[in-house]
Amino acid sequence: MKTTLKTSITVKDICEGFIYNELEGKGLFGLSGKLTIQPEYQRNYIYASDGGKKEVAVIESMLKGYPIGLIYFNKVSGDRLEVLDGQQRITSAGRFVTDKFAIKDENKMEQYFAGMAKDKKEKILETKLLVYECEGTESEIKEWFKTINIAGVPLNNQELLNAVYSGPYVTLCKEEFSNSQNANIQKWSAYVKGSANRQEFMECALDWVSKGNIGDYMCSHRFEKNINELKNYFNSVIDWVSTVFADVENEMCGLEWGRLYEKYHKKAYDPGKVSADLRKLYADPYIQDHKGIFEYILGGSVDTKLLEVRVFDEATKKAVYATQTAKAEKKNESNCPHCAIGHDANKSKVWKLNEMDADHVAAWSKGGATAAKNCQMLCKTHNRAKGNR
Ligand SMILES: [Zn+2]
Repeated sequence: MKTTLKTSITVKDICEGFIYNELEGKGLFGLSGKLTIQPEYQRNYIYASDGGKKEVAVIESMLKGYPIGLIYFNKVSGDRLEVLDGQQRITSAGRFVTDKFAIKDENKMEQYFAGMAKDKKEKILETKLLVYECEGTESEIKEWFKTINIAGVPLNNQELLNAVYSGPYVTLCKEEFSNSQNANIQKWSAYVKGSANRQEFMECALDWVSKGNIGDYMCSHRFEKNINELKNYFNSVIDWVSTVFADVENEMCGLEWGRLYEKYHKKAYDPGKVSADLRKLYADPYIQDHKGIFEYILGGSVDTKLLEVRVFDEATKKAVYATQTAKAEKKNESNCPHCAIGHDANKSKVWKLNEMDADHVAAWSKGGATAAKNCQMLCKTHNRAKGNR
């Protein structure tokens, strides 16, 4: 890969013909149309999120004469360039000089570019950028792109994959899953964590359809002109979850719905009963982690390990151990009630506290409480044998 350092390109040059697409949330062109600011493998513009602190910081740096870092262009052909790295900073500049956002002046007043003093405007427009123009094959550029992690927000895994497998398929995926204007996003957000412009819905959809092999899947579909399989699968999972569970709970967001769909979608559920069971489990004070409730119900309400039922605390265990051991010693039998009724050498064995575990006398799943009067200490072997708490 060949690189040339350019030091004479100014913000004014870059912003000549700058276009920002509000709908897609990205800066499109600059340098009088010669520069593509956001090639299809680049991520969407994210400096405006989080209250726009990052884009304001770019402008303030320019006003103070601070460097804003290296920028990389990829020479595509003739005089056509595309931004390899620096797209967020360039879009910040372009958005500012086209009055898309304001900064605060010395008196904390909002100030748009159009209303700025002439000298300040010039300071911004004449800011020189440090630009490396790179020339190389597509695979060289992409490989390099994959290894950089410079300035600003590092690329996440899906953004890297989009760069590596850029093409018509990625473009279509982005139109569907990375467009924050898509009306479905609100529904998806109940079940999928993340944001559209960091490609997290796209990542989730690909993860589900590929059963976790996103890279392989993208590689084999790279040049396809439709994303029907991906869309259908993703929608099937979402429809299934929202049909089985009429309720929408916070803990549903980010669960492994793809895996659960594969495992359970052929089973029939009565949404009314599911909802009643869900309400009951949510109201149970002994269940500490609500995330496991969904798979517990899907599996037929048997695997209590999924629920993290609250265990007895140390003080309760110690107190129960002391009473149990004192009684057992009087009768000269084991302090594990199960050992005491057995017929082997442990019949009169007195176990130490750390050799025993607390057990629900009446199992939690049968309504037993996690309270001292429902606690008994068993030797580890017998507690394990009892299993279901
Ligand atoms: Zn025992």
